[in-house]
Amino acid sequence: MPGRKGPNQNTYHEPGILWRTYRWLRGSEQVLVRPAADLPLVLISYAKADREGAERLRAALENIWLTLPHLFRQQYASILKSVPPLVVVLLRRQNICSCLGHRHPPGTESRLTRRLRSLSGVATGEMDLAYEAIRQWEPLPLSHLALPPEADTEEMTSFQWELALLAVFLHEMHHLVSPEESESAVRGRSQKFYTDTLAHFVTQHFGVEYGLRRAEDSTLAG
Ligand SMILES: [Zn+2]
Ligand SMILES: [Zn+2]
Repeated sequence: MPGRKGPNQNTYHEPGILWRTYRWLRGSEQVLVRPAADLPLVLISYAKADREGAERLRAALENIWLTLPHLFRQQYASILKSVPPLVVVLLRRQNICSCLGHRHPPGTESRLTRRLRSLSGVATGEMDLAYEAIRQWEPLPLSHLALPPEADTEEMTSFQWELALLAVFLHEMHHLVSPEESESAVRGRSQKFYTDTLAHFVTQHFGVEYGLRRAEDSTLAG
């Protein structure tokens, strides 16, 4: 895709010895998130030093999702119907390949996920998300239209980060559920979700109409 790289469609990059060593050295923690009933149970696994990223993802799944008008959540209803009841998110700061996230196809999951699946007996999916890369990433549509000056607040920055985490999470869920679907279809849906939600938030919080222009080649996530 043009510009920055988004999550990759099909390839799962073996995290490699550096990542495994990093986790071993720093220790890893898990937090179980029970979001709204239409989302799966999510286990976030992260290195100790990355607690803030885990908290942001938890907030995105638990809080932001529920504040969205039904119409926006509806965009993912058909996908969420088929998601596994349990999803493991391996959370990192960055990916070596610079993608924002990857779905992990069956057979490539971590030992943690395989163990959970056999203990729980329920279908368990896995993905990775790079929370710092997601924070720094600026979806193209936004660069086409500056936010109103009223929206230049810490609250807005914080919301954008959590919303981006949610959008990339949903994007990878879409890949998990429909591995045969094209990247452009998956990306189109997550991009629409992101821009609709952002426009809604800006209107609600700052009382200004925020029409996001859709660039023809704009990309939310890969
Ligand atoms: Zn990648
Ligand atoms: Zn993708």
